[in-house]
Amino acid sequence: MPRIAIIGAGLSGLAAGFQLAETEAEIVLFEKSKGFSGRAASRSKNGCRYDYGANYFKVNCNDVAALLFRDLPTDGLCRIMGDVWTFSSDGSIEAGDPGLNAGAKWSYKGGISTLGKLMVEVGSLQVERETTITKLENENDSWNLIDDQLNSYDGFDAVLMTPPAPQSIALLHQSEVEFNLIETLTAELAQSRYHSQFCVALNFAGEFSFPGQSYALINSDREHAVAWVSHENQKADHVPSGETLLIAQMAPAWTKDHYEDPQEDIIKAAHEAVSDLLGSDLPPLQWADTQRWKYAHPYSAASLEAMKPGAEVGLFFAGDAFIGKGRIPRAIETGVAAARQLRQHFGIE
Ligand SMILES: Cc1cc2nc3c(=O)[nH]c(=O)nc-3n(C[C@H](O)[C@H](O)[C@H](O)COP(=O)(O)OP(=O)(O)OC[C@H]3O[C@@H](n4cnc5c(N)ncnc54)[C@H](O)[C@@H]3O)c2cc1C
Repeated sequence: MPRIAIIGAGLSGLAAGFQLAETEAEIVLFEKSKGFSGRAASRSKNGCRYDYGANYFKVNCNDVAALLFRDLPTDGLCRIMGDVWTFSSDGSIEAGDPGLNAGAKWSYKGGISTLGKLMVEVGSLQVERETTITKLENENDSWNLIDDQLNSYDGFDAVLMTPPAPQSIALLHQSEVEFNLIETLTAELAQSRYHSQFCVALNFAGEFSFPGQSYALINSDREHAVAWVSHENQKADHVPSGETLLIAQMAPAWTKDHYEDPQEDIIKAAHEAVSDLLGSDLPPLQWADTQRWKYAHPYSAASLEAMKPGAEVGLFFAGDAFIGKGRIPRAIETGVAAARQLRQHFGIE
């Protein structure tokens, strides 16, 4: 019975674990944070629930449709009815492209991270949480994983790595693996580069709608300080009546220029930019929250094909580093593909 370690309980790692849970393999996931779902992240505060990483997902491939509508309970899903409109750097707002608005947009009533939680529950996955893996050692064809507290998790036949590429590169550089192989794998991973992004949740004392009852506004010319602003009220059970909760994702260029700024300055700038965009009817701000994502979205991709030398020694890869875009369904697809690759590698059903 093969033992497989998965580093990262984001949606790619969880999707791989979920697919492998039905085989005879023993699967253990290692996750550095407290929660599941990685950048598909939700938080609860002051009676509101909001998605402060990925804001929604579409179901545009069979793997994700099967996972969502066949394998997992559907009663917690919430469909977002409004469209995504656009705004330009001069502040003019327009209806969005009908083609881009086609297809249902989804989150969960309990927040988008419910997707990962459901995979853990339904798949009865073993996840070692708050466990940051800092080193891999290869001994007699088996892998030992060492965490930042120097605990060792020994005797794995394969390791599936799913963190953003720069984090996988750092981990591989610390690891005891043949030098030429590390050079090959890290050189390919370095092809995947990430933007950083501030996400700011803004809660207002009163109700307020976007033009055309739209759900979100996206900056079309990429020259505004704000890249995206969306309405959490459009998701069932996220915001109590009488309040508005907006999520502002600041532009990558703006984030880079303000990366070390104090939280209160980020909130003030986001509030001013959103108020300028939406006009004077916006109710008074009650509270706000921020998240700084160092590796938010990849803007270039590494090739999974080029990572194949890793498989020969039991190192496998998945995650949005291999997509070159931040997209939940495609990250899930890489996890499902890695599970297929591992099944073939070990000849397990
Ligand atoms: C602000 C923002 C907005 C977004 N908007 C959208 C959107 O609207 N729609 C959409 O489809 N996508 C969106 N995305 C992108 C989407 O969230 C990602 O593409 C997807 O969640 C990536 O999943 P993943 O499993 O590849 O990576 P991750 O979710 O990053 O999972 C990797 C996991 O590995 C863990 N980890 C890292 N290093 C270690 C280590 N050494 N030891 C243990 N654990 C480790 C991390 O904690 C993390 O949980 C957005 C992302 C951000 C940040």
